[in-house]
Amino acid sequence: LVVLEGVQKHFGALHALKDIDLTVTRGEVVVVIGPSGSGKSTLCRAINRLETIDAGKISLDGKDLPQEGKALAALRAEVGMVFQSFNLFAHKTILENVTLGPIKVRGLKKDEAEKKARELLDRVGVEHQADKYPAQLSGGQQQRVAIARALAMEPKVMLFDEPTSALDPEMIKEVLDVMVDLAKQGMTMVVVTHEMGFARTAADRVVFMADGAIVEEGTPEQFFTNPSSDRAKDFLGKIL
Ligand code: ATP
Ligand code: MG
Repeated sequence: LVVLEGVQKHFGALHALKDIDLTVTRGEVVVVIGPSGSGKSTLCRAINRLETIDAGKISLDGKDLPQEGKALAALRAEVGMVFQSFNLFAHKTILENVTLGPIKVRGLKKDEAEKKARELLDRVGVEHQADKYPAQLSGGQQQRVAIARALAMEPKVMLFDEPTSALDPEMIKEVLDVMVDLAKQGMTMVVVTHEMGFARTAADRVVFMADGAIVEEGTPEQFFTNPSSDRAKDFLGKIL
């Protein structure tokens, strides 16, 4: 569903993505882990062209990623993204946050969009917050709204970049639970996270990055019990 071939990215002298080949199949949950600065966020951002790439190819559902314009906007609508920081529109209600994209980009009527938004807010457990503003919600609730907002666009794939790392411990689980449910329902997901529990239970595949390259990948069992590279062993030794 998502195919990266020979993707290269430089920031000046820094080689941030080194010849990345990665294929994510439909319904697959790929967890990307690795040390800080290894290029995980850059990889996510490249997948929906929030970041340009210097060489290589990225395609979604068989279509090459367009560079700009309407084609790019259409493609972005197919890729849901949830970031570390809660990026809800502060001056809009929770319901408006979730209905905005479907009305503007998908052309839904307001009442249709609201009906769907309420279903999604219910699914992520924040149905009673619909008329509040983001600042009135906890971090965990805001992050679940961000997930609902992404889902409202009916994306083909969801990208998560450390969605729980800005949250207090007690809120992490409520967000991870929503993500586990999503994975069970067959959503294609690329998840950058330091939550190894999530990686073990929800990932079909773990991709380990270091210094801008994919150093190794495998099933969670393989990766956590028998990593093959020294870089991965070293990393796991520090975090587990
Ligand atoms: P973290 O775990 O800390 O989020 P990461 O694996 O997501 O790290 P990236 O954010 O992808 O790492 O960054 C990879 C490298 O590229 C880092 O060395 C970073 O400093 C650099 N980098 C990222 N974005 C830019 C930018 N816009 N301009 C210059 N350098 C950048
Ligand atoms: Mg990052």
